[in-house]
Amino acid sequence: CISTNPDDHPNILKSDSKDIVVPDATLPEIIYNKMQQFPNYIATESAATGKKYTFEQIHVKSKNLSKHLRHKFGLKEGDIVAFYMPNLPEYTICFLGALDARLIVTTMNHLYTPDEIAIQIIDASPKLIFTQSHLLNTLKSALKISNRDLPTIIVKDRQDESIPRDTVDFFELTDTAIDVPDSPPGNSADVAIIPYSSGTTGLPKGVQLCHKNLIANLLQIVSPDFKYLKEPSGDFQEITPAVLPFYHIFGMAMNFLYLYCGVRTVALAKFAPDTYIEALKKYRPTFISGAPPLVFFLTSHQDVKPEYLKNLRNLTSGAAPLGYSDEEKFLKKVGRSDVTIFQGYGLTETSPGITYFNKYHVRSEENSGSVGKLLPNTIMKIANVDDPRGEPLGVNQRGEILIKGPQVMKGYYKKPQETQNTFADGWLRTGDIGYYKEDKYIWISDRLKELIKVKGYQVAPAELEAVIRAFPSVEDAAVVGVPHAKFGEAPRAFVVPKKGVQFKPEELEAYVAEKVAPYKKLTGGIAIIDSIPKNPAGKILRKKIKEEFL
Ligand code: AMP
Repeated sequence: CISTNPDDHPNILKSDSKDIVVPDATLPEIIYNKMQQFPNYIATESAATGKKYTFEQIHVKSKNLSKHLRHKFGLKEGDIVAFYMPNLPEYTICFLGALDARLIVTTMNHLYTPDEIAIQIIDASPKLIFTQSHLLNTLKSALKISNRDLPTIIVKDRQDESIPRDTVDFFELTDTAIDVPDSPPGNSADVAIIPYSSGTTGLPKGVQLCHKNLIANLLQIVSPDFKYLKEPSGDFQEITPAVLPFYHIFGMAMNFLYLYCGVRTVALAKFAPDTYIEALKKYRPTFISGAPPLVFFLTSHQDVKPEYLKNLRNLTSGAAPLGYSDEEKFLKKVGRSDVTIFQGYGLTETSPGITYFNKYHVRSEENSGSVGKLLPNTIMKIANVDDPRGEPLGVNQRGEILIKGPQVMKGYYKKPQETQNTFADGWLRTGDIGYYKEDKYIWISDRLKELIKVKGYQVAPAELEAVIRAFPSVEDAAVVGVPHAKFGEAPRAFVVPKKGVQFKPEELEAYVAEKVAPYKKLTGGIAIIDSIPKNPAGKILRKKIKEEFL
């Protein structure tokens, strides 16, 4: 019998692993249910203050918050709430509480400037925002720019901290039970979160991830071939320092995974070498996750002593490639070979996991730099970059990676055209170039899309170009990523000055630095050129810029 299903094409790569069943539920239902297996273990705590919550407390407090959000603030199913704060143990309570109340969460980097926050507030129109006292001035400026006023809930750092009268104390809500019915049951197809990503082109867009997308990715990662985290039992509990930002899909999904697997999470508000090393020393983690710069830091920093890593069982690296020699150096530092190193690949648009090392993975030079194998229920097609709808390419042939799977987003928020452009016949276009070998190992070899990744953070060239073009001496500008030893990549601006205008690159650099989060600064430099190469439709030819000027 000959299949008529085009996805049965021999070049379309299918996962080696057995399919999983994705239940028809909401994310909090799945997590609450699982947390009942280990209620009295510590779920999360603050590295800064030592404040702790057990899984049972997380459950009770997020349920309290859920009820207050609906009854005190009158929020309804489908309303959006924004999180603008660093990694805190309370972030988890906010997430579960909001999702339990059937609300949608949009997350913002706490490093954002008022302009950046205002853009997201205008686009997502949240009805309420969670933040911290030290971020209130920036938030106020952002609300002024966006001409909005939002009920604000403050997660206080200290109990005795005083907060403005027009804000609400998070702890007053989570510590008080109210006698009102639970939220009505939700639907797995409801949108749960809207993190922002620039996708393959243009400005950051809201990525609509439904409960079923997040549940699917969680269950794919804990499926038999990929599960490495052990659940708590007796004296044993996995423990991890959580420095990957919760606002970004990688940190967020890891946090859901930790809750599901009973991991004790030590939240660090930001990465600072001293506090991170202090946390390693104090907590002796069994598990560490991060982007390659974190692995390099652990390997090379002399104050990271091997004994701090004596309980480490697994290191997970994602967001950028990590080679075999980097793995070797790390293991040499740890001084043990029983630490497994897992790498993965994914996107905000895929909740985020697409590939991961499975438990049969054997480290070798042969598969150096590979991102592993497809997660269950996931299929991949390598497409000719000029023809994403064409015949799929085969083994060892490089092309654009296209993905289908239950973790793929619903679409961009209020952006039907951009959503349509991101899919080709139901396949998500990742904008990444890669290939697979005979044994189904996958490599990412290049990036077709404009996106620049600085320390794992997204930097959208279009966003920086808009900022640069608003500088009075600039006529036109283009931004591309250049390799950077410490950050992976850094944004470099190519600028055309206005005719007859004196131009000082340092002034532009300072101007941009004031408008954007620190990692978006023009650390790759500024180059003055006569004109920006563009196609007849006015699209910047970034490849040509790289070929001509780098
Ligand atoms: P984000 O949506 O911020 O998670 O960024 C997703 C992008 O990061 C992907 O499309 C890739 O370009 C890049 N990326 C993620 N993981 C890896 C990896 N393991 N190796 C190379 N690039 C990666």
